[in-house]
Amino acid sequence: MLKLEPNHKIKIDTGEISEIFSSIQGEGLSIGEKHLFVRFRSCNIACDYCDEHDKLNFKDMAVAEVIDSLKILERDSGPHEYVSLTGGEPLVYSGFLKNLMPELKRSGFRIFLETNGTLSNALRQVLPFCDMIAMDIKLPSVTKERSFFGEHEEFLKVAILKPAFVKMIISKDVLIPEFLTAVKLIARVSPDIPLVLQPKTDLKDNSLESGIGEVLSSLVSLARRELKQVRLIPQTHKWLNIQ
Ligand code: SF4
Repeated sequence: MLKLEPNHKIKIDTGEISEIFSSIQGEGLSIGEKHLFVRFRSCNIACDYCDEHDKLNFKDMAVAEVIDSLKILERDSGPHEYVSLTGGEPLVYSGFLKNLMPELKRSGFRIFLETNGTLSNALRQVLPFCDMIAMDIKLPSVTKERSFFGEHEEFLKVAILKPAFVKMIISKDVLIPEFLTAVKLIARVSPDIPLVLQPKTDLKDNSLESGIGEVLSSLVSLARRELKQVRLIPQTHKWLNIQ
């Protein structure tokens, strides 16, 4: 993943793709399903815990190349439940997505958008093609980035026009008032939106922080007072040692 520089030119006829592969969805409400993944290179923010920092290789790929690669993977290792557009931040590439996503639908794929939930205008442009949206809410105490609560609320109002859920990465640094701000933000949009809490996983040995279990348990209770569906789900693909 490469943090987007202000002068970085994003093309619309090709996308910067760092990998296309078949694997098991390891996060969120679709955990355990077989998905195809299209990973975009760049992101508009830089989370402290990001596991994509070392994936700098990429290829400029046209829509037809992406579709061909996916069809081969579907033939050889399918069926897959969804094509997951992930990153980086796929919505950085909304111009390219407007070309890619209709072609994915025409080819019979269902589309799962994994997003950091900050680019609502970009989401509006591709919303009709999304079958499921997995949106992050970023807590500054965990990401060491600035707050995006305003952007997240705008984004969520658009996202819930489709099936959608929210994911929050939690570390021991989490500040409870910040967490409650995020939960109330979701509840204002709709208390029916599912929330997945995901403990931060160590990048080197895939372990969880010691003592995080108790923190998470109390956060589930706090969130459940505002929201109807709250789950704690760790990143399973790291434990299974799959991509
Ligand atoms: S939003 Fe996702 S891809 Fe972007 S820096 Fe954060 S964790 Fe990495």
